[in-house]
Amino acid sequence: MQHVAYISLGGNIEPRAQTLIQALSLLDDYEGISVRRISQLIETEPEGGPAEQGKFLNGAAVLFTDLTAEELLDVLHEVEAQMGRHRESEKRWGPRTCDLDLLLFDDLVIESDKLTVPHPRMHKREFVLRPLAQIAGDVVHPVLHKSISELLADLEQQDDVV
Ligand code: ADP
Ligand code: MG
Repeated sequence: MQHVAYISLGGNIEPRAQTLIQALSLLDDYEGISVRRISQLIETEPEGGPAEQGKFLNGAAVLFTDLTAEELLDVLHEVEAQMGRHRESEKRWGPRTCDLDLLLFDDLVIESDKLTVPHPRMHKREFVLRPLAQIAGDVVHPVLHKSISELLADLEQQDDVV
């Protein structure tokens, strides 16, 4: 069965754009995955983690896939590894070549040991919502029941208050 999945991409080790585009190309090469739309890549400040680290490039993409959400997550991890990501040696929220997160998978709600969908922090992260809104502004978050554009507006309003 064909599913629609939304993913986020991010990295802050050069060559950043080349790495993210290569990751999308590798994903598209997988049997049962086709990359349908890609947002612009935006530059964002690192959040949390070590103080001294470079700015991130972040983007989002729409995939069509025959895989299950768990299978797709395994592929995302494989592609991260192919792009030179070594989870063992990196710090939480520290520099990384390529972070691929599964944001939404159809309108499924999944909570297992290895996978939570919708991604539990997506609605709190402007670096996720801003690119995602470019390609999925009208898509409704299946738990919060708001569109991606609405979630982004909510977040921007909170930022104004703080
Ligand atoms: P982060 O993306 O928060 O910087 P990692 O990429 O290191 O952190 O992911 C940590 C773990 O989160 C992974 O081992 C993965 O199994 C788990 N995980 C749970 N839900 C998701 C999801 N929706 N997308 C990506 N990873 C997820
Ligand atoms: Mg991740």
